[in-house]
Amino acid sequence: MIKNFANKLNQALRTTGPTIKFTPPPSDVFNVKPVESAENLIHQVKPIEVQDSKIGCDGGNGPLGHPMVYINLEGNTPQSCGYCGLRFIQKHGHHHHH
Ligand SMILES: [Zn+2]
Repeated sequence: MIKNFANKLNQALRTTGPTIKFTPPPSDVFNVKPVESAENLIHQVKPIEVQDSKIGCDGGNGPLGHPMVYINLEGNTPQSCGYCGLRFIQKHGHHHHH
């Protein structure tokens, strides 16, 4: 009988074959953190330092590209672009080049 043969084969495999142990992955693998909002991510990005008190932002022609807007950077607080959320801050003092 084919069934008997299959049983014998299974037994043979069980005794002579390599033992494959299935260990379930640690449970924390599935503990996926909720996706952070783009707003949170953009706030982790350091503001871009610019020399001028005004910056034109067009989103860098990337996926965030948008019409050119000018952002006034007077003051010491970073200003964010209303289109793409990139932040810019005027760089004071040191005039070293990278
Ligand atoms: Zn922008």
